[in-house]
Parts: sequence; structure tokens; C-alpha cells
Amino acid sequence: MRRVYLDANATEPLRPEARAAVLAALELSGNPSSVHAEGRAARRCLEESRERLAATLGVRPEAIVFTSGGTEANALAVAGLAASGRRVLVSATEHDCVRRAVAGAETVPVDGNGVVSLEALGERLADDPRPALVCLMLANNETGTVQPITEVAALCRRFGALLHIDAVQAPGRLPLAEAVAAADTLALSGHKAGGPKGAGALVVQRTATPAALLRGGGQERGLRAGTEPLPAIAGLAAAVEAAEAWCRAGGAERLAALKARLADGLAARVPAARLLCATVPTLPNTLALALPGVAATTQVMALDLAGVAVSAGAACSSGKVAESHVLAAMGLGPLAGQTIRVSLPWTATEADVDAFLDAYAAMAGRLARHAA
Ligand code: PLP
Repeated sequence: MRRVYLDANATEPLRPEARAAVLAALELSGNPSSVHAEGRAARRCLEESRERLAATLGVRPEAIVFTSGGTEANALAVAGLAASGRRVLVSATEHDCVRRAVAGAETVPVDGNGVVSLEALGERLADDPRPALVCLMLANNETGTVQPITEVAALCRRFGALLHIDAVQAPGRLPLAEAVAAADTLALSGHKAGGPKGAGALVVQRTATPAALLRGGGQERGLRAGTEPLPAIAGLAAAVEAAEAWCRAGGAERLAALKARLADGLAARVPAARLLCATVPTLPNTLALALPGVAATTQVMALDLAGVAVSAGAACSSGKVAESHVLAAMGLGPLAGQTIRVSLPWTATEADVDAFLDAYAAMAGRLARHAA
């Protein structure tokens, strides 16, 4: 059976540029910290990867700290900046790795589309004069909702707060420049951009001085100890560069056209289905789709049996699907448990979308008959 993979927000298929970079780095046997020729060759690859990523983002190479992934990049920013006593404010729909990075983070509410309340954020910042760190994702992994980061950055500047942006879901879907300009720190993950799993990056602008979470060998200018996973880092730098170029060269429009085809097909074939967050800016590859009365896990399993990979809320290491705090924060009520996420990878085609529509329409018809 042909498989159709529509779960890009869990992980993107590997980009060829990333594969080439990984294979080249695997040939380097040295440790980047060693002083001999093998070590120096590995160090060169590490610093070239840093320069490649920095050039893609338009930042200084020294601003890049490589980590093991998006989770660690977010933890370094949030826990590392909170270490100096800053209060931490997170939007209600942040990824758990941000929400749970420190104890006592304050939650800023979102509206029914998952957009953070600027009013509530402004009030929280005005009410308490202590220095703050505001954490906001550029785009949500479950709904694709894009946050008003420029407005939030202006609020942060007004109240002297730092802004951390989780941009993990953006590469290849949204140009990164606006978020890089707005952020004091910004997190990326290699495998979400079409690189391998095992590397992430935190951009640390001059305005931010996080404390290290991992201490030891002094790698990454003392901000992240541990021997660098060179193949994953080289793959990350190549993937983000390729994703950004692809996005700007029409990739984002291509994804948006496929998403529109999917939404139009659904409206015509399954009128009971409800597309969430349809009235606000969202990622061009992401649809949150509710089928009233049918549990999301049932939908995901039925679609999997029909050859289509989608997910219910965020992927979770235990393989279980916990109730989505994102959809709950949007006030969806029971629909929160009846919503699946369809996220188009950079490799998606019209045939994939049509195969999804066939499988979804058959699944909805069968389950609706069953329920009746
Ligand atoms: N932030 C967001 C928005 C994500 O979607 C994810 C992964 O789902 C992460 C952070 C964590 O990234 P990683 O899987 O690289 O640890």
C-alpha cells in the first residue's frame, strides 16, 4: 500500500542537502576539541556549519549555540535566562518544553484561534516591575497559528523584557528574518527543518546572557558542554539553509496551494469537518481539523490503516496521545479531543492531498454511519 506522510510537524523528511552534509561530516573521525589534524578538521566542519547557519539567519556566527535539539535550545534560553531571577511569562499554547522549562512560569492567555492576548501580556508586564522573560512561539505545532511577534517584541522593549522565540516550526514555511530581528534568543531544531534528529540551535543575541545548563568541557563558548554531534550539526545547518531558500523560492506558496486544495476538497466532500484557526494567519502546511463526535485517536488510527500518517495533537514519547493543552487553551471544549493535525511535508504533492481526501471522506462516512 502507498503510504502518504502528512505529519511534517512531528518531523520533516530529510532534505538532500542535509543528507550530503551529514555523510561528509561522518567521514571526519576527530573530536572538534582535539588539537591534532583530525580534531582540527572536525573543528573546521563545526565552524563552517556555524557560519552557514549564521549567514542563513543574518546573525554573527558567535550568536549560534548548537544543542541536541529544539527542546534543549528552548531549555537553555528559558532556564538559562531565568537563572538570574527573571520572571518567566509563557503563552498558553507554548510547547511543553517551554512551559515546563522552569517552575512557576506565568501563563498568558490566547484567544479562540490560539493568538496570544497582547492586552493580557501588556497588563502582566505593567503590573510587575521585575525584569521579565517573555516566551512566544513563532508558529504553533498543533494549529499552525502564527503569533504577532513584532507587536510582542515592541511590548517587551517598552517594559524592558527579553523575548525568547521558539521558531522550531518555521523553517521552510515562513521566512525567519522577522523573528530573528525580534528575538533576544531564538530556538531551532534540525529534524523539523529537514535535517537529521540530534541537533538544534539557540541564537543568542548580544542582549541576552543565559547561564549554561550543561557544564564541563567548555564547548560552545561555555554555554553547552559536551562533544558536538558533528553530523547532526552539519545536517542542521544545511537543512535550515535549504529550507529557507526553498521557502523564499516559492515553496511556501506551493504548500499554501496544497493546503487550499485540501481545505476546498474537505468543504466539498465532508461538510461536517471543521477547519480550526481559519481566520488568522497560519503556517502554509498545517491544518487543525475537527470531526465532531469522533475521537481524534480513532481518526488517526483509521487513517493510518488507510495508509495516511497524521497525528492527534503533539507527538508524545510514550506513544500515547495526551489531551492537548493547546486546543484546551483555545476553549474548544469537547472538540479538543476530536481534532487531528494534518501537516504537509516539503515533499507533499497533489496526489498526497487527494489520497488524504479519499481516506478522510471514507473514514468520516463510515464512522458517522457507525455513530448514527
Ligand atoms: N518547539 C516546538 C514548537 C515543537 O513543535 C517541538 C517538537 O515537537 C519542539 C519545540 C521540540 O523540538 P525537538 O523535538 O527538536 O526537541
